[in-house]
Amino acid sequence: MRGRLSLCGYLDAEEPDVVVISGCTVTALAERKARQAAVRSRRDHPGAKIVLVGCLADAVRRGLTSFRSADLVAGNAWKPHIDEVVRRAAAGVRGVLSARPEDEPDGGPQGSRAAPAAGAEPGRVRAYLKIQDGCQHACTYCRTTQVRGLSRSRSPEDAVNEAQELATCGIPELVLVGIDLADYRPAGGTLAGLLARLDGIRGVRRLRLGSMNPEGLTDGVLGAMAGLRATCPHFHLPLQSGDDRILARMGRPYDVASYLDTVQRVRDAIPHATFGTDLIVGFPGENAAAFRRTCGVLSVVGFVNVHIFRYSPRRGTRAAALADDISPTVKRQRAQELDALASAVRGKILREAVGTAQSVLVERSEGKLAYGYTAGYVKAVVRTSRPMGVGEDIRGRVVSVTTEGVEARALDE
Ligand code: SF4
Repeated sequence: MRGRLSLCGYLDAEEPDVVVISGCTVTALAERKARQAAVRSRRDHPGAKIVLVGCLADAVRRGLTSFRSADLVAGNAWKPHIDEVVRRAAAGVRGVLSARPEDEPDGGPQGSRAAPAAGAEPGRVRAYLKIQDGCQHACTYCRTTQVRGLSRSRSPEDAVNEAQELATCGIPELVLVGIDLADYRPAGGTLAGLLARLDGIRGVRRLRLGSMNPEGLTDGVLGAMAGLRATCPHFHLPLQSGDDRILARMGRPYDVASYLDTVQRVRDAIPHATFGTDLIVGFPGENAAAFRRTCGVLSVVGFVNVHIFRYSPRRGTRAAALADDISPTVKRQRAQELDALASAVRGKILREAVGTAQSVLVERSEGKLAYGYTAGYVKAVVRTSRPMGVGEDIRGRVVSVTTEGVEARALDE
């Protein structure tokens, strides 16, 4: 959206006419943050119109929640036409736009098409390449299927074309994203096939998979990734709980044994793989033993990145009918305990990386310090003998662990 807006000449302004808030509806906290952003925007920019976009906008359109502080609400289908949304808001259009732009009484935006996600923004090294939307699952806590609809896959041709545009714009790293990436099944194509085609694009130096349910990491996908030049060995596999009973109550499409089997298959195929995950604490029925099992899986897998969410019932989901029987205090305590454990586990993995050589894609540079991420998605600062440019690759030997990741010394100079 930023890319498209800047292409259209709408840039960050000190006193904006329109403020766009991209809101998430997955947790109560996410919704609260969007509401707080709206309050801040009203206070700081009293003359500006407020536009709400994203899944929260679709939840409002479907009557699952309200968002009175927005002048205009535009769901996900409008994101490729965000410039048109901003134009309408600035012209005083109010209310909730139709689910699909073409359903608008005036026929929707004419001749408008999605711009490359990030191509127009200078200084970016990473772009999200969306290849799938919607979800075939119905996890009991999740509103996504209601706001995003059923699973559908983007054609490989379309994805390759956008990737080529992004590479031409100088973006070296692509992250393949979808709501249910594991269900990427385009007509006549596969994820492994798409990865191979993207790997062949000149200028694409890194290919990452975004968050993906474990069943998506088939032997075919792993085999392809192991043989490609640009694949990054980092896998974000949402676990949510380490207890089979809770996973079943959540309606998750795996049990702990099959999750751990996937992790092992990844490690067999790509030995230096790193892992990230999402965990929910305080789901209805999560007793102390179930929570301990989650802690156990966290330690066994050894994640470098963990996102922890406290369960909150979402109107319209099946889990909302279950008794929310874990008190806010216990949810907070469990989240804190899990966070401390995740930090300890991460610290151990990073300490083990001391002495190894890592490649870092430079995102920012200050004098002889270059900042970026390793291929395994660990934040790194590299000490260099010359200033590095954004987008350059540098190899460094890890010398220590920092609060955010690792520090390395450049090897290639
Ligand atoms: S897999 Fe489950 S949690 Fe993820 S989007 Fe689909 S329904 Fe929601």
